[in-house]
Amino acid sequence: MSEPILEARGLKKYYDTASGFMDSMLGRSNKVKAVDDIDLELHEGETLGVVGESGCGKTTLGRTMLRLIEPTEGSVYYKGQDLTELSSSELRDVRTDIQYIFQDPFSSLNPRMTVGDIIGEPLDIHGIAEGQERDERIYELLETVGLNPSHSHRYPHEFSGGQRQRIGIARALAVDPEVIICDEPVSALDVSVQAQILNLLEDLQEDFGLSYIFIAHDLSVVEHISDRIAVMYLGKIAETGTTDEVFEPPYHPYAEALLSAIPEPDPLWDGEQIYLSGSVPSPIDPPTGCRFHTRCPRVIQPEEYNMPQKEWRQLMDFKQRLLTSDSLKSIAQVTDETVDLDSITRDTLDELIRREFDLPMQLSDMQAEQVISQAVDRLTEENFEDARALVADGFKSPCEQVDPELQSTGTTHRIACHLYDDDPKQPGATNTSDAVADD
Ligand code: SF4
Repeated sequence: MSEPILEARGLKKYYDTASGFMDSMLGRSNKVKAVDDIDLELHEGETLGVVGESGCGKTTLGRTMLRLIEPTEGSVYYKGQDLTELSSSELRDVRTDIQYIFQDPFSSLNPRMTVGDIIGEPLDIHGIAEGQERDERIYELLETVGLNPSHSHRYPHEFSGGQRQRIGIARALAVDPEVIICDEPVSALDVSVQAQILNLLEDLQEDFGLSYIFIAHDLSVVEHISDRIAVMYLGKIAETGTTDEVFEPPYHPYAEALLSAIPEPDPLWDGEQIYLSGSVPSPIDPPTGCRFHTRCPRVIQPEEYNMPQKEWRQLMDFKQRLLTSDSLKSIAQVTDETVDLDSITRDTLDELIRREFDLPMQLSDMQAEQVISQAVDRLTEENFEDARALVADGFKSPCEQVDPELQSTGTTHRIACHLYDDDPKQPGATNTSDAVADD
């Protein structure tokens, strides 16, 4: 593979959320780790798809790479030149080479400017063309993106969503860039229009030799356009490789869940859809160890346990709820008004909790059964502290303890998951992956 044209090394973007005067006085701060120590490369003429759920940090990553947002730490190299070291005027020069297309084509276009002036603005700023030459360049750009040059005097509101995105693309092309960071460029568009914009981007790539970083939450869109993919979760890269590598096993469990959610008929996934428990945790206080462990269907069991994977996942969910709730009502999610929690019997509470977490009345692992049973005893006495200590100690996954590193499977494919610690080509934890398929 050629030398990278654009490269991030140890890139971090943390936000300080200290909110008030007292927070500042007492030195209290919470850091939102939106982008946390990311390495990635974009090669000439390729499309690197960056995919993940909303809030995973992919947009912050794209903006930090272009220094639209200043990074907290790390470097971004464009053709070997560190952009984080450049002055603002030097950076302005480089921005003719690296352009950004925004997600919302409407709010990113000034409603008071004509389309001709929107596209002509970068030509003016960078002193590229003026007068008739400027006008001709604008007409040519409009034609290139499939719009009528005679519409250059119209305003953005006179165009459809797809046409507005074409205007955004024409503006990005005006300075003759080499790299374009496309931030969710089709997510606000209808499916049929999405395909047209994706095809346009592919044609432009071929005609002008462009390299793209293509940010999206939809794996099927990324699959369509990318040569390589980086899957992001809570500010980190979980898996990266060529599109074929990411769409073929071995999978990172998060990528596997995204892949299973691609609507049919997708030939790349023939299993059941995998549902993730809970929502993406807050990046202010990300989970310890592997950040995905609070939702991962394959989260690893301690060696001493042997139970169906689904049962273990449910026990982990029960633990999380217990550690963050301070009433029986919220732990068991009691909505039935006739249940009197003040005088609830142990057996009724046991039944409510197991029903809420879809657990059998007798766990298949006797040791785990003992832990949950004792925790229910403590909860019946409303002794939350001891119940929490029991589950925190008894239901501890190795995934909570160590943050997995991105490991190479021997090719360009890299996965950050303890299932592949022993052999990156094979899932190693025997009591987890098989059980997922069975469940
Ligand atoms: S390290 Fe554990 S929690 Fe994280 S993805 Fe792998 S199996 Fe899931």
